Amino acid sequence: MNFFLEKLNLKSFDRSYSSDVFFKRPEKYKEIEKFSAESQNLITMGSNYSYVPLSFHKESIVLDLKKFNRILNFDKQKKEITVEAGIKIFEFLNFILDYNLWIPQLPGYPYISLGGAVATNAHGKSCGTHGTIRNSVKKILLYHKVHGWLNLSNDENKEIFDLTIGGLGLTGTIVSITFSLEEFNFTSFTTVKKKVFLIQDVIKNFTNETTDKNIFIYSWNAMDDLKNFGKGYIFKNIPINNLKKISKIKSLKKNDYRFPICFWNKFTIKIFNKIYLKFLDVEKKEKNDSFVDAIFPFIGKENYFKLFGSKGFIESQLLVPNNIVESFLEEVKNLCKIHEPLITLFSLKKLSGEQKLLRFEGNGICVTFDFVNNKKNHLFLVKIDELCVKYNVLPSIIKDSRLGQSIFEKCYSEVEIFRKKLISFDKKRIYQSELSKRLKI
Ligand SMILES: Cc1cc2nc3c(=O)[nH]c(=O)nc-3n(C[C@H](O)[C@H](O)[C@H](O)COP(=O)(O)OP(=O)(O)OC[C@H]3O[C@@H](n4cnc5c(N)ncnc54)[C@H](O)[C@@H]3O)c2cc1C
Repeated sequence: MNFFLEKLNLKSFDRSYSSDVFFKRPEKYKEIEKFSAESQNLITMGSNYSYVPLSFHKESIVLDLKKFNRILNFDKQKKEITVEAGIKIFEFLNFILDYNLWIPQLPGYPYISLGGAVATNAHGKSCGTHGTIRNSVKKILLYHKVHGWLNLSNDENKEIFDLTIGGLGLTGTIVSITFSLEEFNFTSFTTVKKKVFLIQDVIKNFTNETTDKNIFIYSWNAMDDLKNFGKGYIFKNIPINNLKKISKIKSLKKNDYRFPICFWNKFTIKIFNKIYLKFLDVEKKEKNDSFVDAIFPFIGKENYFKLFGSKGFIESQLLVPNNIVESFLEEVKNLCKIHEPLITLFSLKKLSGEQKLLRFEGNGICVTFDFVNNKKNHLFLVKIDELCVKYNVLPSIIKDSRLGQSIFEKCYSEVEIFRKKLISFDKKRIYQSELSKRLKI
């Protein structure tokens, strides 16, 4: 191995996987070509904020695109912007919100890169109406070790364009992206909440809700009380204009410190849920939230992840078709009675779009669970995997590090299409991550 390479030990955000990895940090376009030519296997990294090891692997040289964070072109009239793929969401928003423009499909943490968001086809809180980031991508400039520089869009290299959005970095390095922008004439949000006593109430509310595309609806539910399974709150973020400018979002110093042990157990989860429910009960029904608080719910709450300790956590995010969501969750409840899993987060939101290739996209309810990473929960999740197959539910491969090839292939109907198209584009399968190896993509 070339000794000019920097070596680091990297961990996935959920702490399920770590590995020593060799790095290259290109600063110029020529360096992307040079570093790609020098290495046999590659993978591009954005901010490495993925829950699962998506942007590294012990046998791949990591191209870290951090330095590619410039705004290359902005056309206010056409509502279009071209940015380098390493730019972080907060840097992008700090520029574009001044023009009352944005893209609505931004994932919930501002330190994620736009290259990473496009490569995972990320979604935001309004995914029930705005779908995934795919809907805002107009063009991509890709660099591939064998094919060189490629312009991708619906008019040029369409097949590779489709493979690249949500293609998990396996088609090459996204160097720049052109986005279509949408108007955003608001400055903050009014958050209205409503108590629910059972998970069925959430589903009913979601179904009856008239969809204003600018209102974000989601729920927080407790799971420790099986008699009142899903007791919790539904939140609605309604955008408002209070004439105050949106404050600039500050950069963050990454802090990898974790609690040495896991704080979450049966009792702490019960106590936390009780206190949080009580807090929501006494808090005003309506409150004002800043832009940052509404769009990026995890800002300032990073300790929640750290409290899982060095073994980390498992997140299972599932896209459940609307017509079976009640039966599916009833079965989940029955499994909870038997297995008593330790679940720290249970939340629902709507998702819309079309499921294709490897993308976590489609029409239905997006159900998110966070689990303590222990043996008991792994066994419970095997049962959830079986339910996914039974009910045609789509598990997110970018959230759950534990998912294996067999469940992946049973749930994603276009796996083979993706594999065939990718191998015909890249016979040597140059771009590889831990996930691509595990799922044999
Ligand atoms: C706190 C938190 C909240 C989140 N909220 C949401 C959410 O609301 N919705 C959602 O959809 N996701 C969410 N995510 C997941 C996150 O959006 C994705 O994992 C995203 O890919 C992370 O981007 P990154 O810049 O960290 O990329 P990385 O983790 O570094 O990479 C992710 C993938 O993108 C590829 N990639 C990155 N940059 C490039 C590039 N320039 N060219 C080619 N491929 C590239 C990598 O190879 C890898 O496959 C959240 C994550 C966290 C930690």
